[in-house]
Amino acid sequence: MLPIIVLSLVVVCFGPTVGAVPVGSLDLNKEPFDLEARAIEMAPPAPQWVGAPQYPGDDTIGVQVERSGLIDTAKRWPKNATTGWYDFNYYITPNFTAAEKSLILVALNIIHRDIAKVAVRPWVSGKKEYVYIRKGLAGSGYVGMQKGGQIVNLEVSHLGTCMTKHTVLHELTHALGFHHEHTRPDRDSYLEIVQANIKPAYLHNFQKYSSQTVTTAGTAYDFASVMGYGLYSFAINPAQQTMKILPKWSHLTYGWGAEYSRTDITEINLMYP
Ligand SMILES: [Zn+2]
Repeated sequence: MLPIIVLSLVVVCFGPTVGAVPVGSLDLNKEPFDLEARAIEMAPPAPQWVGAPQYPGDDTIGVQVERSGLIDTAKRWPKNATTGWYDFNYYITPNFTAAEKSLILVALNIIHRDIAKVAVRPWVSGKKEYVYIRKGLAGSGYVGMQKGGQIVNLEVSHLGTCMTKHTVLHELTHALGFHHEHTRPDRDSYLEIVQANIKPAYLHNFQKYSSQTVTTAGTAYDFASVMGYGLYSFAINPAQQTMKILPKWSHLTYGWGAEYSRTDITEINLMYP
């Protein structure tokens, strides 16, 4: 919904270098994402929604981690010892429309396509970690993998629609283990947070995390991250901003496209090497 510019392009090669130890043969054959979701008819147990957000919107609960990398590796999606992929299993409840389901699958496909080592597949019996994508509570979910399955909420509500490719990808990226870009330890070097204009119920979504708690993995602040917020998000006075770009960066455009930025891809791949 906003124009896009990538603040800093950090390019990392994730493939094996020439002469490196060969990777397992299965590593070279990640199967294509199944946009038909043929196996999706199987339903896993519905996880509990623990600690429901009091304030629907783009709200996150659970373990709060920095976008740039989980400190707690137990909150990362597990690596399949057989295939070498990090399994990101999903289930979509049947009450979405066909168009909504297609949109969710497109967003899941972006993860499967862009994150080299993450394999996105429908949940199958025996898988203990999965996202349970259901209608409700606007767009909300947990940050990082939760054992026993976890809910991701998506819906069109009075707060606006969460059924856009960008927002679905944003919520699923929370589940991968990333928090909002504007909570990075270095965000004050890029943005001024206008606390007085933020609805009190949403102030926690602007909380900054210290570098003792989180790491930015050496990447630069990314104005184009799908994990950013709009400059007017959750404003008391919608005509005034809740975040302002510092003057030294005013020549840059703030905003994102419908898919991952280059830095998003870099960071997520670093988390799932
Ligand atoms: Zn969010």
